[in-house]
Amino acid sequence: MKKHTCGVCGWEYDGPEAFDALPDDYVCPVCGAGKEVFEASEEAEAPAAAPVDDDPKAMYQCQVSNCGYIYRPDKGDRKSKTPAGTSFADLPDDWHCPVCGAGKKMFKKLG
Ligand SMILES: [Zn+2]
Ligand SMILES: [Zn+2]
Repeated sequence: MKKHTCGVCGWEYDGPEAFDALPDDYVCPVCGAGKEVFEASEEAEAPAAAPVDDDPKAMYQCQVSNCGYIYRPDKGDRKSKTPAGTSFADLPDDWHCPVCGAGKKMFKKLG
């Protein structure tokens, strides 16, 4: 996304149309300067908030030795018909590890 800022008054164009698609006689609504004074700059990508899904903090690992199953909210748990997107906290209290059958209490936060 390119950002266009008026070189005279600093007003930032944020209309729905691409700036380049505006008519040549477009003027800055604030100071009336023409298109040519606008400066294009690459918009700094806002650091995307880590999606909950990929956050290791949202993952829980079964602490039973030789198990080590990791519950991933982005995957859910097919065995208990838990849909993807279900956070560990939202699992029912009687949910258990699909590998070894341990209860939720045996799970520890990964992150
Ligand atoms: Zn201006
Ligand atoms: Zn387990």
